[in-house]
Amino acid sequence: MEQVSRVIIVGAGIGGLCSALAMAKQGFDVMVCEQTKHLGEVGAGLQISPNAFKVLRELGLESALQPCAFVPQRATMRDFKTGEYYLEIPLAEKTINRYGAPYWHLHRADLHSVLVQACIEAGIELMLGATVTGYKENTEANQVSLFLDDGQELTADLLIGADGIRSKIREQMLGRQKATFMGQVAWRGVIPVSDLNVEIKPDACVWVGPNRHFVSYYLRGGEYVNFVAVEERNDWTSESWREEGDIEALKQSFSGWHPEVTELLSAASSTFLWALNGRDELPTWHQGRVVLLGDACHPMLPFMAQGAAMAIEDAYVLAKCVAGYKMSDALVEYEKIRKPRATKIQKMSKANASLYHMHGGVLGKLKLKALQAASHFVPD
Ligand code: FAD
Repeated sequence: MEQVSRVIIVGAGIGGLCSALAMAKQGFDVMVCEQTKHLGEVGAGLQISPNAFKVLRELGLESALQPCAFVPQRATMRDFKTGEYYLEIPLAEKTINRYGAPYWHLHRADLHSVLVQACIEAGIELMLGATVTGYKENTEANQVSLFLDDGQELTADLLIGADGIRSKIREQMLGRQKATFMGQVAWRGVIPVSDLNVEIKPDACVWVGPNRHFVSYYLRGGEYVNFVAVEERNDWTSESWREEGDIEALKQSFSGWHPEVTELLSAASSTFLWALNGRDELPTWHQGRVVLLGDACHPMLPFMAQGAAMAIEDAYVLAKCVAGYKMSDALVEYEKIRKPRATKIQKMSKANASLYHMHGGVLGKLKLKALQAASHFVPD
């Protein structure tokens, strides 16, 4: 049980690639299996808070990411109609002084391609078009076998399931359970600044309104503005959890909002619509030689912008634990460190849903709640 030399990671998302780099840095022989045949542009903007930044720095990625970053001046919360500020938290230098690391905005595609490049340079084997169907522990050989849909079998000393919210590895470990639709959908999009007729402040801004909220911030040194528009829904009937969004329906949903929002949306030509799904806290994150990280074990609403950040933290802690402890203790230690923190952030993200969506004109209480939220806006 004790010896770990070869590690296989399922999933080349942000969590899987960070895990690959962190494991390789500890001297393990690492392979990543990813079902996608071509790694391409997926998603939109990501807010990278100092906790996640510190890991990216530790993995040696700071200088490669710097040219793609945007440094927001403040995190703000504004009224959907009047534009009144409920909250203004300085970021930029203040974040560096307080946490020793900046708060960045990155395009997910930029972060992903820097991670892929770093994996290639570190000699990590990236196997694309490799869809994992299941695994089997071989206790006599102290190994775990991994099965691909083309019939191939791979073996490793440790298997990491970083395969997202619909994780096959989680399913085999803990049984099949559908993710829960959280009653919210999110339109996401990226608009070139050259297409805008409105000036957007250099902040990470949440516009709060009845039954919906709108997030806007710059990406790629200010070349693009990213938006996330969230609306409450009773159900999600589509088979897919992400689909091409109807841009007119989006504009209609936010009509009557502050001109900074409506003018921004008037420049949007395409959008994707995401169903926001979640899961309750899992009973465990590991079993034998198999362990989970990222959305595979703690998917969360994006209302603290911490989903990827938590996956990045998981990756770092897991590698340290596997390098520093006997295998049998390492996964226990990893879960002991990570589960309480990720679960807390999951709960805080869910609580923000009611803070961001005004029901019955609770404007007065909103200021107070916003101030309370300010104290944990950026997790340390
Ligand atoms: P994923 O990104 O889902 O990666 C899983 C990978 O596994 C995929 O590449 C998939 O193809 C592969 N895979 C799946 N099954 C198999 C299989 N059987 N075999 C092989 N490969 C497989 N987070 C932040 O930190 N900051 C933000 O600002 C932020 N904003 C967000 C806004 C929105 C609207 C949403 C929806 C999310 C946001 N998040 C944010 C959350 C963040 O995007 C996710 O939490 C994060 O990307 C999860 O990464 P992951 O690597 O765990 O999973």
